[in-house]
Amino acid sequence: MTIRPEEITSVLKREIERFEAEPAVEEVGTVIMVGDGIARVHGLSECMASELLLFPGDLYGMALNLEEDNIGVVLLGPYSHLKEGDPVRRTGRIIEVPVGEALIGRVVNPLGQPLDGKGPIQTNTFRPVEAKAPGVIDRRKVQQPLQTGLKAIDSMIPIGRGQRELIIGDRQTGKTALAVDTIINQRGQDVICIYVAIGQKASTVAGVVDVLRQKGAMEYTIVVSATASEPAPLLYIAPYAGCAMGEYFMYKGQDVLVVYDDLSKHAAAYRELSLLLRRPPGREAFPGDIFYLHSRLLERSAKLDDRLGGGSLTALPIIETQAGDISAYIPTNVISITDGQIYLETDLFYAGIRPAINVGRSVSRVGGDAQVKAMRQVAGRLRLDLSQYRELAAFAQFGSSLDRATQARLTRGERVTEILKQGQYQPMPVEEQVAVIFAGVNGFLDDMPVEQVQPFERQFLAYLRTQRASLLQQIREKKALDDDLIQQLKAAIQEVKARMQAAEPPKAAG
Ligand code: ATP
Ligand code: MG
Repeated sequence: MTIRPEEITSVLKREIERFEAEPAVEEVGTVIMVGDGIARVHGLSECMASELLLFPGDLYGMALNLEEDNIGVVLLGPYSHLKEGDPVRRTGRIIEVPVGEALIGRVVNPLGQPLDGKGPIQTNTFRPVEAKAPGVIDRRKVQQPLQTGLKAIDSMIPIGRGQRELIIGDRQTGKTALAVDTIINQRGQDVICIYVAIGQKASTVAGVVDVLRQKGAMEYTIVVSATASEPAPLLYIAPYAGCAMGEYFMYKGQDVLVVYDDLSKHAAAYRELSLLLRRPPGREAFPGDIFYLHSRLLERSAKLDDRLGGGSLTALPIIETQAGDISAYIPTNVISITDGQIYLETDLFYAGIRPAINVGRSVSRVGGDAQVKAMRQVAGRLRLDLSQYRELAAFAQFGSSLDRATQARLTRGERVTEILKQGQYQPMPVEEQVAVIFAGVNGFLDDMPVEQVQPFERQFLAYLRTQRASLLQQIREKKALDDDLIQQLKAAIQEVKARMQAAEPPKAAG
């Protein structure tokens, strides 16, 4: 074989063209300080924000502060072996989590590592935890309901798929219960659920997982858990990781529900990180970008346009307030980012009104369009009855003699309030909710003692399920109440009332 000189020159030329002055060695920096879960690293001038960095001992860190001569890195694990002078390698990857069907039914930490002892997660798909939210053109109006199974919410504070609805209230007011019931109610609804536990006790999270498992809800649910004992950086990325796992399904055209329980603890974890990184503290010692923290998370919930598959991601963020103060910094921020809020109150909770929803202060700004028509037909009256009752109840306490109209409104209000009570883990299908609320707002319960309302509801539902299953089915399929259905409902109510009266023990004479 002969080699012609022009070939050699052309090869040489090409090599010279491709030559880069920068040697292709990997960038390695040095630890200059370590402590409190933070490391300062020198020599990684090309490092990206949120890039994963590798420390000795397979310890990962995330670059958060990019300063002129060093970077601030939060450490994502035990770091006691780390010391000044240790080498730090760039990975070139923004922090990401495994996503996919393999995660369904699993309990994982915010890095997607299993916590349930069921072996490794079989997936090759990853998504960065931080992603850009879909833009205006890519979205569509919320149009399909996300049924929570709770009468008070589905009737008066309806949530649509793709909506962001805040659950807000003091501690121990049933916030988690409300979210968990909503997850349980998604059985058979083709909704993938993701429950993100941030800064809670491990025992509380274990309790939630147990309930979800018992109710068969783990078949379509992923639990992402960063408990209170975990380092702050893990708490910080937990909601973004949960959101990324949800986005995978949303962009495949599926419907997703993500619960962030709760963002108050998330904000506190971020404040801790920021103070350790020496960012300047602002109001309530939170760093200046705390609003951006939650807005960029919640903006990622969306109802996508049909061109993009029409999937949706509904978000239920939870915020814990102190002594009912919704005007504190974090609550006002998140209220302004979401499409409405469900406000839970301690007083109502202890008065036995559970779920303890303050209807006057709760609102859903977009879900109404998505509500089932039959529900809209009965719910209009419900809101009116309740608000009139609230206005009058304050006066009624004085025990002055009341005129008949006022008396009637109080009677109605008491019974409707009773109808809206609902036990934990008992979500109801929408047709049953419609039937029960129908009885309440049309005054069929006004002539029975308040204590009889709940027994009536139980018997009425049992009767409908066993003897009038076709009526329930028709409400479900027609999605609206026509004259025929209204007559059937009335007849069923009278029938159950008659049975209850017949079963009552005869009143003592005199
Ligand atoms: P925390 O602030 O501790 O997270 P939380 O607001 O999430 O509390 P939950 O843990 O959901 O509140 O509920 C507090 C208690 O109230 C629990 O013991 C729960 O079983 C009970 N509870 C919640 N909802 C109801 C309900 N609808 N009916 C009866 N009990 C309920
Ligand atoms: Mg809770």
